[in-house]
Amino acid sequence: MKCEEARALIDPYLDGELAFERCLELERHIEGCEACSEALAARRALASALRDRLAYQSAPLSLQRSVRAAIARAAGSEAVRRAPPPWLRLAASFLLVASLSSALTWYLTPKYAGMIPEEVFASHVRGMLSGGGGIDVASSDEHTVKPWFAGKLDFSPPVVELASDGFALAGGRVDYVAGRTVTALVYHHKKHVITLFIWPAAGSARAIETSVRRGDNLAHWSDGRMSYWAVSDLNAGELRDFAERLAAAAGASGGKQP
Ligand SMILES: [Zn+2]
Repeated sequence: MKCEEARALIDPYLDGELAFERCLELERHIEGCEACSEALAARRALASALRDRLAYQSAPLSLQRSVRAAIARAAGSEAVRRAPPPWLRLAASFLLVASLSSALTWYLTPKYAGMIPEEVFASHVRGMLSGGGGIDVASSDEHTVKPWFAGKLDFSPPVVELASDGFALAGGRVDYVAGRTVTALVYHHKKHVITLFIWPAAGSARAIETSVRRGDNLAHWSDGRMSYWAVSDLNAGELRDFAERLAAAAGASGGKQP
């Protein structure tokens, strides 16, 4: 795939309109192409910014006027002399929203919203099947695990030990979730394994939410810098406890991130 073709596919990709094979082709290209990877990140950041701002910004008056004028010109000079009907003012607002909505669909479609939990769950299960939670760097020392990710990822994940809280860091691996490489850290609690996925977040912080998927519990939160997904067969209360302790520890070490 050439860059030109890849760029043309980014919007339909984010809108969930690409066929599965095309998604894979595009993702393969983006993995190896820094320029296209940046283009994708920029489109995602734009969509995120729109999502944050659209909630409380309507179409500016100048845009409403120019849309009214353009429609009036198209409808003939007689329309210009008439006062614009109220629906036209509304239409101007909707026109702006409609033109932005393509970028938004990626965030709002339930299809995409459901894809990430499905993928982190699948990755957790793959790790469990490969034995020991799927660890490529086995260590309980954050100073061994964190540097191991350098050069393997385009971001520096927060790695925290929670052994004193009863959650022992066992190691980690690089995985591929939601169209990007991510950090997967493995923690042990009693006889249970927790896989914690981390990747850079777009948008604002989100409080911890838990959900259930085929008997396993998922916890998701974001601190505005990183997005976190924890999966385990721990009960929901214990997983939430893990998430809260981890969020507090990662937040406390936030200032030390490069
Ligand atoms: Zn490219």
